[in-house]
This record gives sequence, structure tokens and C-alpha cells, in this order.
Amino acid sequence: MSRKLFIAGNWKMNTTLQSGLDLANGLKETIGSIDEIELAFFPPAVYLKSICDAVAGSNIGVGAQNMYFEDSGAFTGEISGAMVKDTGCKYVLLGHSERRHVFGETDEMINRKVLKALSDGLHVVLAVGELLEEREAGKTMEVNERQIRIGLEGVDAAAMSNVTIAYEPVWAIGTGKTASPEQAQETHAKIRQLLEKLYNADVAAATRIQYGGSMKPSNAAELLGQPDVDGGLIGGASLKVEDFTALVKAGL
Ligand code: PEP
Repeated sequence: MSRKLFIAGNWKMNTTLQSGLDLANGLKETIGSIDEIELAFFPPAVYLKSICDAVAGSNIGVGAQNMYFEDSGAFTGEISGAMVKDTGCKYVLLGHSERRHVFGETDEMINRKVLKALSDGLHVVLAVGELLEEREAGKTMEVNERQIRIGLEGVDAAAMSNVTIAYEPVWAIGTGKTASPEQAQETHAKIRQLLEKLYNADVAAATRIQYGGSMKPSNAAELLGQPDVDGGLIGGASLKVEDFTALVKAGL
């Protein structure tokens, strides 16, 4: 089965409203009409509506970097899936390593968010990945398997068409250290085998698995050329029009 590449930019806590609009408008010009690759931005929550409006009419979708698992109420500082949808977003990123390791989100919390996001009609990008010490201790797959198993608990095979997995080894995020194409391929293939075990061969073959961790124009073609690497989740290199454009074009 051929899977459409899916490349997304995670802006994290960067940009101002104006620089975010400049970035979105610039990328709309350079890559907004590409339809061979699914494209998305994850801007800061307060700019979602403005960025959605800016890219309207292009092939670029927008998503939130996080959401909460309740509909409404006394949850100061949080946003709901319905609010995310209301801004015009199609996607939500859940389980990013910074949410897990800086903000202490557990696999169980992430699972509640995944279930809520899917029931709210959002496409979920579920990020997973091991720490350096976990890789060095030979626990790469143990960690990724736990994060995926718990993260997807209660998600049935049909709902998996609205889930993308982002494999992001934590030691490669924002560090300039990229997993080698062979390291990425090895883990992606194992994640796909796990999806076959948890679901079935069709779900395993259809689910996109993005790679994330210091992907940039110079290493994108080789990473995206691996058979089980179906796109990328990009931090630093998503903040410059030239870099993200070159990176996306490397996937064509
Ligand atoms: C990320 O934040 O998901 C990421 C992969 O960051 P970077 O590309 O900067 O390593």
C-alpha cells in the first residue's frame, strides 16, 4: 500500500502573531498548492484562528499543539477539542516529548486526550519516543510500545484512519543529532509490526509514521526515502520559509 507522505511543522512556543502570519503566508506561496504531500502547521494556540484564516484555500492544514480531555469547565489555562475545531483546525498534536517530559503528561492522560480528540473529529498526531538513557539501556521498543499501547487504548481499527504516529527519539529533538536513516527505519518498521499486532495488517499498512528529531533540508530526502518513514514532524526547520520549503520539496 502506498501511503501519502505527511509533513508537519511544530512551531512550539515561537513566533509573534505577525511573524507567524509571515511564515504561513510565505509557505502558502511556496508549498500551498502541493497535493502529493499532506502538509500541516502546529502554531501556538492563541494564533490558531489567524493562521487557519491565512492558509485557507491552500493545501496546508492547521492543528493545535495540545488540548485537554474535558469539554468545558474549571480547567484554567486549557483548551478543548471543540475549541480547537472551532478555530478551523483539522489536527491536534498529542504526547509531544515536551508535554511528557517538561509538563509531566502521563501515557494515561495522553490516552484520554487521544480518545477525546477523535470523538471531537480531530486527526491526532500521537508523538512517541525514547530518551537517550532508554535507548542506551536497550529499551527503545519497550518505551515506544508502552507509549503506543496505552496512548491508543480504546481506539478501534476504524478510528485509526484519523491517527498518525510521530516517532521522535527524544535525544534527537532540538539537539541537532538526527537518528540515522537506518535507526529511523528500524524503529518505524517495529512500530508498524506493533500496529499489526494491536490491530491488523490493513491498519499497519495504512497508518502514517512520521519521523521527528532534527530533520532538516540536508537530511530529509534520505530519511523520507526509508520505506517505513511516511513523513516528518519538524521543529526548528519549520520556522523558516526557505528551510521548510526545501524540506517539503525533498519529499516530492
Ligand atoms: C519537534 O519538536 O517535534 C522536533 C522534531 O523538533 P526539531 O525538529 O527541532 O528537532
